[in-house]
Amino acid sequence: MSHITHAQCLICGKTFEGESFEYVCPDHGNEGILDIQYDYNRIRESLSPEQLASNPDPSIWRYRPLLPVNSDSKVPALSIGGTPLYHFETLARDLGIRSFHLKDDGRLPTASFKDRASAIAAVKSVEKGAKIITTASTGNAAAALSGICASMGLPNIIFVPHSAPQAKIAQLLMFGSKVILVEGTYDDAFDLCLDAAAEHGWYNRNTGFNPYMSEGKKTCAFEICEQLDWQAPDVIAVSVGDGCIIGGIHKGLRELYHLGWIDTMPRLIGVQAQGSSYMADAWKNNENVIEKTAQAADTVADSISAGLPRDRIKALNAVTQTQGAYVTVSDDEILRAIPDLASRTGVFAEPAGAATWAGIQKAAKENLISVKESVVMINTGSGLKDVNSAMKAVELEQLPCFRIPPDITEVNRMIDKLR
Ligand SMILES: *Cc1c(COP(=O)(O)O)cnc(C)c1O
Ligand SMILES: [Zn+2]
Repeated sequence: MSHITHAQCLICGKTFEGESFEYVCPDHGNEGILDIQYDYNRIRESLSPEQLASNPDPSIWRYRPLLPVNSDSKVPALSIGGTPLYHFETLARDLGIRSFHLKDDGRLPTASFKDRASAIAAVKSVEKGAKIITTASTGNAAAALSGICASMGLPNIIFVPHSAPQAKIAQLLMFGSKVILVEGTYDDAFDLCLDAAAEHGWYNRNTGFNPYMSEGKKTCAFEICEQLDWQAPDVIAVSVGDGCIIGGIHKGLRELYHLGWIDTMPRLIGVQAQGSSYMADAWKNNENVIEKTAQAADTVADSISAGLPRDRIKALNAVTQTQGAYVTVSDDEILRAIPDLASRTGVFAEPAGAATWAGIQKAAKENLISVKESVVMINTGSGLKDVNSAMKAVELEQLPCFRIPPDITEVNRMIDKLR
């Protein structure tokens, strides 16, 4: 058994006992995203900061009582979670803030943050006896589900836009998924996947539809706070597409606060691309995201390109309830942030990961972060996911790269030129 008590619809507040729901609140079509609630008193009996400190398992399953899975469910062999939190004093100084940490989720098994959620989906699909599991994705959620399914021997069918970066499609094919390349946008692939899953009875991992995905994503907040010895940072910044990550981080922080393991709630800063700025616009203009319709989405950061963010209710709450902010960055700023972050930290991020670095610099400049504050940035994906975009950044920044014949005199001439 898990410690789930009920799930609550974020639109009408209706509650569903235990796990007596399929995915969404049936009163709102596909939009009725649920929030999972637990018996926190019982969780306190089996989990504490002291108990965690003596647990050598670095994976997300160290927090199992706080996760929506049965205590005896088999978990994937791949190690999900336990990513490093790096401290960079020089970057804090340059930003003019107290401290700066970088949580590198590009280090997860399939090289993106999505592994945290897909691991939960895979375990839940087995609990529910599903024969096939499916998702639509801009690429990373798909690769994550695909890799984790491969590790557990679970058949899966994946819908991605045909324009997804090559590396992400290659991952799907290597992991043995049935891959459906949709001639359309992510939003098209999403709707198609929902229809197909309903028609064929597949287990559906889709973001902003399957309420357990936030539960996987919240583990990153647990790790950040535990790595900081339960001293929550002042600000956590992360890029936003569908809004599931930022909503999940918010959920994790609320749980830690409720349990009394942290004393303060960080402000959440969501970073969006100027070309896919639904959430930032909704926040700035005080719009109702239940009514607000889709916007065009076009950005080099494919992982945060979402015309209609599927987890928009949670994503808006995350920022408004923490007195945080949304910032937007241009594609050029995103591309330039890739080598800027990589050359100063050794962490190579894909465009959607680097977007957060561009956003933090903007937030610091606009005084959305103050000098006394500590900031944690999450890198959500590895730069190796999208080498094409990195090479565009090379061009933009005219990064030096010399091609010479294999001859020492040529090397010497080049060195002279460099002086
Ligand atoms: C999915 C993803 C995001 C955004 O997460 P959402 O939950 O869609 O907001 C950011 N960066 C990367 C690399 C991702 O794969
Ligand atoms: Zn409802």
